Amino acid sequence: MERRKHFNKMSLTDFWIVLLGCSALCQAAPTFAPVVSSEDQELAEGYVSQFYSDVGMTNSSVRSITNSSFSQDLQAMQAFFGLEVTGVLNKKTLEVMKAPRCGVSDISRYGHFPGRPKWEKRLITYRITRYTPDLTQRQVDATIAQAFQLYSDVIPLDFKQIYTGTADIMILFKGGYHGDFYPFDGAGGVLAHANSPGRDAGGDTHFDDDETWTLTQRGVNLLLVAAHEFGHALGLDHSRDRSALMYPTYQYVNTHRYRLPDDDRRGVQALYGSRTPVPTREPNPRPPPRPEPEPEPEEPTEKPDPRNEQCSRGLVFDAATSIRGDLFFFKNGYYWRKSTSFHGLRFTKVSTKWPGISYVDAAFEIPHNNVVYLFEGRQYWGIRAYAKTIMPGYPKSITNLGLPSSVTKVNAAVYVPTTRKTLIFVNNQYWSYDESRNRMDFGYPRYITQDFPGIGSKVDAAFENQGYLYFSDGPRQSEYYLPYKRVMRVLLNYGWLNCY
Ligand SMILES: [Zn+2]
Ligand SMILES: [Zn+2]
Repeated sequence: MERRKHFNKMSLTDFWIVLLGCSALCQAAPTFAPVVSSEDQELAEGYVSQFYSDVGMTNSSVRSITNSSFSQDLQAMQAFFGLEVTGVLNKKTLEVMKAPRCGVSDISRYGHFPGRPKWEKRLITYRITRYTPDLTQRQVDATIAQAFQLYSDVIPLDFKQIYTGTADIMILFKGGYHGDFYPFDGAGGVLAHANSPGRDAGGDTHFDDDETWTLTQRGVNLLLVAAHEFGHALGLDHSRDRSALMYPTYQYVNTHRYRLPDDDRRGVQALYGSRTPVPTREPNPRPPPRPEPEPEPEEPTEKPDPRNEQCSRGLVFDAATSIRGDLFFFKNGYYWRKSTSFHGLRFTKVSTKWPGISYVDAAFEIPHNNVVYLFEGRQYWGIRAYAKTIMPGYPKSITNLGLPSSVTKVNAAVYVPTTRKTLIFVNNQYWSYDESRNRMDFGYPRYITQDFPGIGSKVDAAFENQGYLYFSDGPRQSEYYLPYKRVMRVLLNYGWLNCY
């Protein structure tokens, strides 16, 4: 039931974009031409894009639709069904696809990273350069080894701890800033993170030492978190399966004789194949089911609960803004609030907070006026930044700002304190509104690519934070430094939402 619901939430539009985009490209590929009719080819592309591609990528441009991604997705499908893994569409594979869908509910929900990075060798070394004081060194060594063994039991890789020099996977426990761009956030929130496979920092895994690491139910269980992170280090992305280890939020399960859950095993075997012969260990009792999310009101017109996508690398924001130092990220009629004054995120329905507004398309704050503006369709509202209440006289029409009446929706907006201009993004263009003169600047709209090189051709969400501008185009976010007119870092939206 749970699974069906998720699939239904995939937007039909995206499905067709992927499908059409792929058939155009794949038809050119000689591999597929001879045996398979174009009808079957389309069916297969639809099938793999629905069930085996990186779901959550609502933006079609992210999933670069190439022949090889179809072939990779097809391999995953073949692996799942125990077919010969060729990555090429053949009769057997098509038969399975055309079979009645009784197997659908079992279809894997794991994910791989874009480009499918993986280790190209059999022996992977790891080294723990800094230990936690919460456990003895022996306990940490044993637990880390146990976490790796969950994988080496099912895939033909071996893991070896080394104590000097550079290992493939460097591991450390440290709080706060620890040498990369992703400082930890104190107790709670982010627990750990790991890089996908690759050279240098690839596979490196960091544990936030402000957590209390344990081998039990208290604090944070090291085995479960290490096993999850090593999944990333081996190339697994988050899974939509709530019983999967790669489910993006931490949930304690009994670790006595713990084995890799099925979904994760399939995911990692799709990358590396399976270890033969399969080790005969006694099966684990299935981990207790994770608590179901609170039932949502089932209104067919409602957009899906964005919490399902919170930790997806494909997360796309509708809008984002700062409000008095906190950050608000809007999605599907809800927002996450990330604050420096409390731990974790607050999640709120927009219409509960601001009656009359259902979906926020764009938002910006003018800090020195203590006012925030929220856009929905052709209207916008002024909100008092302190009280977060709607100001009298709103909503107003966006034509009041000087936008032409042909604009039906604003994609993003951000106020730039240094220039006192508000940038208003619509499709591939933007306008500049002069807040000190209260009028639109002359000479607009202009093309985004012309004036903001590197941020993409459209902006879905934009905000200012600590002197930087953040522009999201699909799941990808550019940290932009206006004085240099340069992208300083490329991030992913979900990185703001306390995921691990
Ligand atoms: Zn780190
Ligand atoms: Zn994770």
